[in-house]
Amino acid sequence: MSNDLQFSLDGVSVCFEKGETIMQAAQRAGIYLPHLCFHPDFSAHGSCRVCIVHLQGKTVAACTQPAESNQVVQSNTPELQKARLRLIQLLFAEGNHYCPTCETSGNCQLQALAYDLGMTHYHYDPFMPERQTDGSHPDLFIDRDRCIQCDLCGRASAEYDGKAIYTLSGRGQNTQLVFRSPSGLLGDTNAGADDRAAHICPVGCILPKTGNYQEPIGTRLYDHHPIHDIGNLRKEERGGSS
Ligand code: SF4
Ligand code: SF4
Repeated sequence: MSNDLQFSLDGVSVCFEKGETIMQAAQRAGIYLPHLCFHPDFSAHGSCRVCIVHLQGKTVAACTQPAESNQVVQSNTPELQKARLRLIQLLFAEGNHYCPTCETSGNCQLQALAYDLGMTHYHYDPFMPERQTDGSHPDLFIDRDRCIQCDLCGRASAEYDGKAIYTLSGRGQNTQLVFRSPSGLLGDTNAGADDRAAHICPVGCILPKTGNYQEPIGTRLYDHHPIHDIGNLRKEERGGSS
């Protein structure tokens, strides 16, 4: 790798390969940049904006911004951390998140980021949207109240499973998770419980119907490890408990 292919990230020199984004280079260097919709196995979505960084006077998403030689990038600043906190608070307000009753509590990246950023309250008035659940599939249950519209299930379904079942539809506050079937129900698709899409949700929206609540609260991944310590370790990458 050429010594020219380096940029500065929070004062640390990071090497990159041609074609990589700032996020990809940071991950390869073992540097955690907060994110929700990014996954190293799938195309970038650039929607959650949690990975925003400062790049020479501009605010850009690290998951879509190409790495370039001699860039000066800042991620860990009080201003950016506050902006991330507001984004996380907005996601909590947009959905209906009742963590103590959620099977994903302790394994949830949204919740873990909220802890990491010091969230103590909603900040925004809860929108209290009315969203339908979907229990039509024999093995999977969908709780749209918790969907953060990251499209990871959509990308996993299209890019890995080759099925393109899960997708997002609508605009703004009316955006929601839908399924490509005549009835619109997941049970009328060929979705499988072993599909990658069924195991990639960073929150508690796509759940198996059996085997839940077997891992006690208090022993889960983020109960003892802040998300910035474990970076991209996702549910399916650690064996997929939910
Ligand atoms: S998905 Fe995460 S943030 Fe939402 S209720 Fe469940 S644990 Fe809480
Ligand atoms: S169901 Fe989960 S993976 Fe799919 S868009 Fe919603 S939050 Fe993302």
